[in-house]
Amino acid sequence: MPKTTKKNQEVESVKLSSIMEKIVSLAKRRGFIFQSSEIYGGINSIYDFGPLGVELKNNIKRQWWQSMVQLRDNVVGLDSGILMHPKIWEASGHLAGFTDPLVDCKSCKKRFRADHLLEAKGLKPKFQPLEFSREGIRCPECDGELTDIRDFNLMFKTFMGPLEDSAAQIYLRPETAQGIYVNFLNVLSSVRQKLPFGIAQIGKAFRNEITPGNFIFRMREFEQMEMQFFVNPKEADKWFGYWQAERLKWYLSLGVKKSALHTREHEPAELAHYAKKALDLEYEFPFGQKELEGIHNRGDWDLSRHQKFSGQDLSYFDAAAKEKFIPYIIETSGGVDRAALMFLANAYTEVEPRSGDDDSKHEKEVVLKLDARLAPIKIAILPLSKKLEKDAYKVYEDLRVAWQCQYDDTGSIGKRYRRQDEIGTPYCLTFDFDSLNDKKVTVRDRDTMKQERIAIAELKDYLCTNLKL
Ligand code: ATP
Repeated sequence: MPKTTKKNQEVESVKLSSIMEKIVSLAKRRGFIFQSSEIYGGINSIYDFGPLGVELKNNIKRQWWQSMVQLRDNVVGLDSGILMHPKIWEASGHLAGFTDPLVDCKSCKKRFRADHLLEAKGLKPKFQPLEFSREGIRCPECDGELTDIRDFNLMFKTFMGPLEDSAAQIYLRPETAQGIYVNFLNVLSSVRQKLPFGIAQIGKAFRNEITPGNFIFRMREFEQMEMQFFVNPKEADKWFGYWQAERLKWYLSLGVKKSALHTREHEPAELAHYAKKALDLEYEFPFGQKELEGIHNRGDWDLSRHQKFSGQDLSYFDAAAKEKFIPYIIETSGGVDRAALMFLANAYTEVEPRSGDDDSKHEKEVVLKLDARLAPIKIAILPLSKKLEKDAYKVYEDLRVAWQCQYDDTGSIGKRYRRQDEIGTPYCLTFDFDSLNDKKVTVRDRDTMKQERIAIAELKDYLCTNLKL
């Protein structure tokens, strides 16, 4: 193995940060992700998903829903409100405890998360404020002196109704999970589920993050995919292990490189206020190994707190075992946007020029090797000449009923291949003059570049098999 020198490390980190720059630029240029409110100068850490980005995100959500709800007997779906009764956040502990430790630089006025500054020095992220000042940590930007730590609540506030007073104050949810807990009884009685069973939800969450950044990795408005699994406390450890393995399998099944995925169990001092046990699935992003999804054993914290604050009995009677208890909850909590960034980074590949693009000024070509199920466009239909429009367009119209397709008749064929490779389209179909007679098209595979002549009448079967749907 080559020796890792400081210089090597520097070269490596320059390479990685330039990959991130390339991903950000591709995302904007090809319509995956835009800065929100850009014509007004942008708004920090809010992003909009463009024509291809919305397809990618929808595909991620569809795959998650299929794996977590559709293919299971014991998990059902839910879509709860973003705005909820303010008492929920008192009961959940968010009002008192959903805070990050914040420090300001006295010189340059920049704001940092104290736990991140400690982490960067290889120190434990949980600490006492006193310890922080003893470490002698200074501003990473200007080496200035830092203020004492203040706790900063991450929830966004707003008002409901015409009066902007404290009685009307409510919050934008910082996680989708609470909407699930407060519907536990409704779901239990309406779908007649028995424990163990889960409720899954995808939806927006809002956090007034102190130090957002790394593109869409940490935003102030984002989407979560969460599943809360209600179990007998005696079985909590077993189910924790089960869901950890299931979630890892899901990422791997969608082509995430195994070597880039890691699990990290939280140390007791690091656990959130609700957690008995927590494990992060982490991915090696170009800017470092970071959390992708959390698997938590939340114990009976949430249901007992809601029982106390609402006065409703949230316990469960297990008729077979003749016992009554408050279920424990095993949670899987991932971010849709963070997963989108991970899938983009995982798929981003540069190859030697291969498309035969005649105006090839580029040294390298980009191929986005997304799993076909995640690719925004599944099939591109490319007529070799505009004269073939009538027949080629018919193929396009026939296929787009089932798949997101794109019809592209501008530029050389090489250029069109390159455009599709760059956005991860798994199949390009070329319709040429022979197609008029033999009723076949040439199908080109994005990854192998293999070209096959396939009968138009058999295209749907061929694509059904190969697109893994
Ligand atoms: P961190 O420690 O990075 O702030 P967290 O531990 O608070 O994250 P959770 O509360 O466990 O994160 O949230 C579950 C998942 O939701 C995360 O794994 C991540 O995928 C996603 N998520 C959380 N905060 C954000 C954010 N600000 N922007 C985008 N995704 C987020």
